[in-house]
Amino acid sequence: MGVTYEQATALISNFAAAVATNKEYLTELDSAIGDGDHGINMDRGMRAVMPKVEALSGADISTLFRTVAMTLISTVGGASGPLYGTLFLQLGTSSKGKAELTPGDWSEALAAAVAAVQSRGKAVPQDKTMVDALLPASQALAARLAAGDDFASSLAAAEGAAHQGALETIPLVARRGRASYLGERSAGHQDPGATSSWLLMTATREAFAEGK
Ligand code: ADP
Ligand code: MG
Repeated sequence: MGVTYEQATALISNFAAAVATNKEYLTELDSAIGDGDHGINMDRGMRAVMPKVEALSGADISTLFRTVAMTLISTVGGASGPLYGTLFLQLGTSSKGKAELTPGDWSEALAAAVAAVQSRGKAVPQDKTMVDALLPASQALAARLAAGDDFASSLAAAEGAAHQGALETIPLVARRGRASYLGERSAGHQDPGATSSWLLMTATREAFAEGK
């Protein structure tokens, strides 16, 4: 039971589909506390990613994630491009030389990727950023696996933690990114990046929970 190349590809296509479906919603969230482009940014990035991923057939998981990273970095203008790029770049580094990822490999790779996002963007929990969804998700995954839960239910717990983390950004005052320019007025709105990160955790659960 682990993550195959096909499942890692499914994670990317699920995320691209979820971003396309939620493009307006993410943009609406970003209109309230940013410049209204998060859905547009992520959709442009993931639309550019898909043909590159399809052209990779036969590559390994590390190359797949690195390709996603490079494409997001070069096609997404906003803060989210380099940050998601950093996330996928670190996933690529952690997967190097592995034909498949065990649940433990994936959990460690996700933790390292979230740490890389934090190191790049300098956001800590409660800053009202994507970290507020990603970090609890990664911690829930590690805790459930350590407690002996199976991969599928651990991935579902990670998804639930990301969802809760995104909802919990609502009362927060933004301390990073464009929303921080609003100060107290950023409170009362859900963070767009935390919301897209929750979509990423849903895409992951859908791709990885089935199969071997
Ligand atoms: P921009 O803010 O440049 O318009 P986007 O709208 O695409 O970029 O993305 C905004 C999202 O990026 C925010 O909702 C937040 O979650 C995330 N973000 C912004 N700055 C940071 C940061 N320093 N660390 C982590 N996430 C951040
Ligand atoms: Mg924006």
